Amino acid sequence: MTAIILFFIGHWFLSLMYHTVFLHRYSSHAMFTMSRFWERVFFVFTWLAQGSSFLIPRAYAIMHRRHHQYSDTDKDPHSPYNYSNVISMMIATYREYNYIKNHRVPEDFDTGGYPRPPEWPRFEKIAGNPAVRIVFILAYAGFYIAFAPSPWWFLLIPIHVLMGPIHGAIVNWCGHKYGYINYTETGDRSRNTLPVDILMMGELFQNNHHRTPDKAGFAHKFYEFDPTYIVVRLLSAIKIIHLPQTAR
Ligand SMILES: [Zn+2]
Ligand SMILES: [Zn+2]
Repeated sequence: MTAIILFFIGHWFLSLMYHTVFLHRYSSHAMFTMSRFWERVFFVFTWLAQGSSFLIPRAYAIMHRRHHQYSDTDKDPHSPYNYSNVISMMIATYREYNYIKNHRVPEDFDTGGYPRPPEWPRFEKIAGNPAVRIVFILAYAGFYIAFAPSPWWFLLIPIHVLMGPIHGAIVNWCGHKYGYINYTETGDRSRNTLPVDILMMGELFQNNHHRTPDKAGFAHKFYEFDPTYIVVRLLSAIKIIHLPQTAR
């Protein structure tokens, strides 16, 4: 049982960390820069961490920029106010993401002054290949078969399979629906769900993030804590990334 719990927690937080650092804060918002070498290292580790649910950074970034541009309007790709439940929001988000991924949406679609999101077409082709995704699913299932004390634990396998989209859905649904508001001037319905957001590594400070979308730290009040900002400052201190003063 310990192995399963450690595997679940490890996968949850590793996947989430690469999601928020690489896909959200770097690819979507360009809050910091990194060399081509480190960008490719992040590509590979984001793929390994997200596994079967690896999200292509370019498609993720374009969709996410549209979310900020049209937040909580009917053009928002995943506002909870446009859907009756979280599953229908996830299905619609998946369709929008796939459309962007497959149609190579022109960069003037939603750049909003941001640089082009990172791309690595050859790698994306392999990492996004359905056969490769199935290998990850088999590995998750194999781990549960080997270590789960009873078949009830197999109910957790779908969470591993859909880890990236599940993290996205929690943030997009809860972060625009539940919690408190620091800033009413965002023009949307974003909220801060948890004052100490360890479970989602700071991503649930949606109201703060929508107020200052280019700031790498999402915690604005003394009682708020954003663990990802610690990771970002650490990466900056050891010079893997360059975090400009304007993003601090
Ligand atoms: Zn949001
Ligand atoms: Zn954002």
